[in-house]
Amino acid sequence: MLLTILGCSGSLPGPDAPASGYLVEADGFSLAVDFGSGVLAALQAHRDPFSLGAVLFSHLHPDHCGDFTGLTVLRRYHPDPPYDPTERKLPVHGPSESPDRFARAYAESAEELARTDLGDVFEFHALPEGTVHIGPFEVTAARVAHPCEAYGFRIATPDASLVYTGDSGPCEALHELADGVDVLLSEATWQHREDRPADLHLSGRQAGRLAADAGVGELLLTHVAPWTDPEVVLAEAREQFTGPVELARRGKSYRIG
Ligand SMILES: [Zn+2]
Ligand SMILES: [Zn+2]
Repeated sequence: MLLTILGCSGSLPGPDAPASGYLVEADGFSLAVDFGSGVLAALQAHRDPFSLGAVLFSHLHPDHCGDFTGLTVLRRYHPDPPYDPTERKLPVHGPSESPDRFARAYAESAEELARTDLGDVFEFHALPEGTVHIGPFEVTAARVAHPCEAYGFRIATPDASLVYTGDSGPCEALHELADGVDVLLSEATWQHREDRPADLHLSGRQAGRLAADAGVGELLLTHVAPWTDPEVVLAEAREQFTGPVELARRGKSYRIG
């Protein structure tokens, strides 16, 4: 399994990276996980965007899905696509509101909204809690602690496993998902303070604690907000987790398993 960081800036794009977006690949299949602002540009630097096998959304905050409208333009209006996108629709797995929210974000008028639901080039699947198969991946989705329909994922092949927290405060679901995983890609939006809201995000300390309690192989910290010092977040995580920890970096790839 190969994980490539397309974007890792928390809550909004930052000076060094797009907002959240990751490419997870195995057996020639490319799964985009989240597609925040700036991610389509980063994807084009790595892969032909028509080569995506599916898109998976943790939740529908703009920093996780803002570039989806660009993907719609690409698939509808590219003058010379490598295949017919209306014949080979791109599977999109996400929260139940995804088709409606994306259509509203794309349509420029009520008339256009009434004419199309983006189903001409995408095939939407509402995420169930539990396991779905996407290409070569077994994807287990669990609701996490964030103020909307939000999921964390365990993405596994027979010989590799990755857990992505999405956006979440500390919760039992993350501990269950992350149990013994090879790589934990954990959000660490902010420095630890006792007065942070409970059901929103993790601090570096909480991400490190999660990694330690779940016995993960390696911790990658992501979704650090542009106004947060990443070195402080990294130091917090390292105080809790003695295994390998690093800050996810735009453009870097990690081989898992
Ligand atoms: Zn976010
Ligand atoms: Zn969010």
